[in-house]
Amino acid sequence: AQVGVVIVGAGPAGLVLGNLLLDRGIDCVILERRDRAAVEGRARAGFLAPRAVRILTGNGLAAGLLARGQTHTACLFRSDRGEFTLDYGKLGPGEPHTVYPQQELVRDLIDAYLRRGGRIRFGVEAEEITDGRVRVRGGTDVTGRYVAGCDGHRGIGRATLTAHGTRTARWDHGVSWLAVLAAAPPSLPATGYALHERGFAGHMARTASVTRYYLQCPRGTDPADWSEDRIWTELATRMRTAEFGPLREGAVLEKARVDLRSDVLESLGTGRLWLAGDAAGLISPSAAKGANLAVVQAESLARALAEALAHGDEAPLARHAGACLPRIWHAHEFSQWMSTLLHGPDGDDDTARYGRALQYARLESLRTLRSHQDFFAENYTGI
Ligand code: FAD
Repeated sequence: AQVGVVIVGAGPAGLVLGNLLLDRGIDCVILERRDRAAVEGRARAGFLAPRAVRILTGNGLAAGLLARGQTHTACLFRSDRGEFTLDYGKLGPGEPHTVYPQQELVRDLIDAYLRRGGRIRFGVEAEEITDGRVRVRGGTDVTGRYVAGCDGHRGIGRATLTAHGTRTARWDHGVSWLAVLAAAPPSLPATGYALHERGFAGHMARTASVTRYYLQCPRGTDPADWSEDRIWTELATRMRTAEFGPLREGAVLEKARVDLRSDVLESLGTGRLWLAGDAAGLISPSAAKGANLAVVQAESLARALAEALAHGDEAPLARHAGACLPRIWHAHEFSQWMSTLLHGPDGDDDTARYGRALQYARLESLRTLRSHQDFFAENYTGI
């Protein structure tokens, strides 16, 4: 039997979409390649923007994050020129982030989806999408009036759309981060960005006992080459602990290399196939936008699909794509701005010296000019 929407992928995009479709009385099924424990255990994002929180709250999906999430309103910047804090919660629109680990949000969304009577099949990999029919590896095909590709930037949803001519705009930031998850309480009262001649280092709270750190590293770096000792020593150097005080160290729970790349598809879908989240566009983690974009797009797609299924009216689907793409590009523009603030060019030739001087001029503007601080706050928390 045909369902209303087959959703491929149980990340933030697919799960928000599934919940919101069920709320609108639309029959759907989620297919997820991994098992439930793997999906619920994958630590990635942590910073939720006010708009994403409002969507989750307005749809009864925020009990966990409201109970256990922490409000964050400040970030600090360190360099060889000192340290300053930006209290972005009091700048621009004056809004905070909610810090809540992505895997906990995913767990809450799965629970909510199942409580609403939703169907989800774990350990099921979609391998081909043809006109509403999803072929499943080693299993029975599933057919939907629509298919939502919420299966990330390497998924079959994106591959299907691009195979039919949808083009991609792509940017390689040319830098990589070693993303470290440490069993240690946060060391700073704010999100920390450290500019250093050895490369960027970042500090991001996750929970009272877990902190994420980032270390800029060369492309091709093997995380196995980074022992715990080496990680903490390098973090101490780049975060200038001799000057500003020690980090609270702990066991390294995870370390992975993230190559900073961004891309956006020129269309979010066509006909019976529509994409949301990383499937539609991958954004470098420099401004923590990816999961937020996934939530916002999923909400918009849910409304448009519900209209199409309830009234046979596909105009809202076209309007959805028209409204989401500029929002996606806006986030990319700020992410790019952040990336050039955090990463100076390598080398010591004239061009590299020019690039580094601009990087510090941007930092100085952020430290001293209210207009730049308001711009930062509005874009940092906005989506
Ligand atoms: P995903 O979360 O990737 O989910 C896709 C799902 O589809 C997966 O579960 C996958 O198993 C499944 N799947 C794939 N292929 C198939 C298939 N063929 N069949 C069935 N299932 C399939 N974003 C923020 O907003 N804030 C942050 O602070 C932040 N920090 C980050 C830190 C790191 C280190 C990284 C890597 C990312 C970070 N992000 C952040 C980005 C954020 O994690 C992603 O943008 C977000 O997970 C996208 O959600 P999604 O649902 O589109 O895709």
